[in-house]
Formats: sequence, C-alpha cells, structure tokens
Amino acid sequence: MITSAKPNILLIYTGGTIGMVKDTETGALKAFNFSKILKNIPELKLLDCTIATISFEVPIDSSNMNVDGWIKMAEIIASNYNDYDGFVVLHGSDTMSYSASALSFMLENLGKPVVFTGSQLPIGDLRTDAKENLITAIQVAALQENGMPVITEVCLYFEYKLYRGNRTTKISAEHFNAFVSPNFPFLVESGVHLKVREEYLLKQPVQPLKVHTHFETNVAIVKIFPGISESVISAIFSIPTLKGVVIETYGSGNAPTQDWFIAQLEVAIQRGIQIVNVTQCSGGSVSMGTYEASSQLKQIGIISGKDITTEAAITKLMYLLGQNIGNSVFKTIFETPIRGEME
Ligand code: ASP
Repeated sequence: MITSAKPNILLIYTGGTIGMVKDTETGALKAFNFSKILKNIPELKLLDCTIATISFEVPIDSSNMNVDGWIKMAEIIASNYNDYDGFVVLHGSDTMSYSASALSFMLENLGKPVVFTGSQLPIGDLRTDAKENLITAIQVAALQENGMPVITEVCLYFEYKLYRGNRTTKISAEHFNAFVSPNFPFLVESGVHLKVREEYLLKQPVQPLKVHTHFETNVAIVKIFPGISESVISAIFSIPTLKGVVIETYGSGNAPTQDWFIAQLEVAIQRGIQIVNVTQCSGGSVSMGTYEASSQLKQIGIISGKDITTEAAITKLMYLLGQNIGNSVFKTIFETPIRGEME
C-alpha cells in the first residue's frame, strides 16, 4: 500500500513565473523572493509533510538557465540528500524539460524523487495554475511505500500529470497543460486520488548517489529544412571548437541525400564531432536505413537518437562529452538508455 507519512521535502526555487510579480513600471513579469510568497500560501501547512525551502540567490527566468544553474541545483540536492525524502524544483516552464533532462543525467543512482514543476500564471494570480502544480508536486515527492520513496527519478509535474522529466517537451505557451511526453507514458495522474503507474517507474539499483557536473558546451542543434544551404551547414560544422551536434531530421531520421550534405557530415565525424540524429516529429523514433534518405547517414556513423526528445538529446550529448568517453564507444554509449530517456 502506498502511504505518505510525514516525509521531509525540500523546495528549491530557481525562478520562473510561479514566483514572479509584475514590475509596476513596465508591466513585465520578473522573478521575486519566493520564500516571502510561500508564507502566504496557507494550504502548504495542511500537507502531511515537513517543507523547507531554499532559493537561488538571484532567481532567474528560465530563459537564462545554463550549466551553472544545473550544477547549482545538483549541488543543493547532493548536499541535502541525506536530510530530505524528496525534492521539488520550482523552475520556469520555458527550459524545464532541458533542466529535468540534465539533472537526470547528473544524478546517477538517484534513490529519491526530484520533481520539477512551475506554472503558466504566477502563484499570486487569481486564476493561477501554480497552487495545484506546487501542492501535488509536493504530494508526489512525499509518496512512500514501506518507508521508501515511490518515485526514484527526475520527473516533471504539470497540470494533473507526472512525467519522466527527460521524456518531456513544452508544447504550449498558452494552455495550463503545457507539457507532453510524446514517447513515454505518464507516471502518475492526479484526480480524486493520485494514481501511480508503477509499471512505468524507473527502478534504479540502490547505490550511493553520484553527482556529475561536467558538461561540454561546444555543441549545437541543427534543424534541417527544405532548401538548407551548403554554406550554412559548412559554417556550423567548421566551428573549430565544435564537439557535438544534434541534427533534427525529417520523419524517421531522413535528410537530404545530396553529396555535399553527406560529405560535410562525414568530414565532421572524421574530425571527431559526434552527430546525433533526432526526428523533428513530435512523436516516434529515428530508424536509419528504413528509407534510402537515411541509409547514408547510418553508413557514415551518425548516432541514432531513436525516440529521444531534442532536450534530452542535447543534454545527454553535453553530459557524455563531458565524461571523456573514447570515440570508439561513444556511439554505443549514446544509443544505450542510461536514465530511461530513450527506448
Ligand atoms: N519565462 C518563464 C520561465 O521560463 C515562463 C515560465 O515560468 O513558465 O522562467
């Protein structure tokens, strides 16, 4: 039976709409002191857990999130790991899927829940979605079974659904239902009860948490389109410091078959640049070789991103390149799921 028995939850506020207020002069939303705002949410006292909060010294709009921010979050989790049963990260929705993906790779052997959430409207707004998201994210992080956490992975909670974080993508700047997990089922549904779909939860071996903080930032995402020019492709792939590229192709991994295009990629691979093929489609998987238009990509050694999201692909690429993995095994390691991020 799943119970939630007074667990200790740490709320980590990084910024984002949830804690923003309107600038009185410009009318634009800007980050604010969330601890102050929390004091005005009496509902939190009714929850069956103890809640502590910690905030980024300078909360940010998640458009400003970067590797330093990911490291800050990971270090807060690591240094509080033994004192809390679960972590709720309050984060802007714009780059939440990138951060949830990055944290999933950084936190190896995670044995406790890390639940990202945020909102489309500030928590002080009359029609806000923030309260439900915040309260249920805390309840999910507090779920325990026989004194052990039910969730042991990095997740994202938004609008009645808990998803595996590295499977998500933001699809709406308008709807409260802003995220989807196109290629993996949701993990928990919030209705009258919290319905946990145990069969989809990531079960990791119980081992000490290992935190990885090295990321390679000399990477790029290239979305191809009909008519993309040789000079653009050439300019990107000849960046001297470039270490990796996620290339967003069509359908099941198809791309132009013109000689110049394949030659540019082949030369880049020979220079040691890792190129990952992901699909522009919002669902489905790369399967190089299904069409002639992807056979050459397979032959020259492009990595298959399979059904990974672009957010998880770029963060996994940055993470693995930061691990100094040898060229000969990089492709195999990338194509193997490490945190449930691909099939
Ligand atoms: N621009 C905001 C951010 O990502 C949007 C949000 O919080 O939903 O920080």
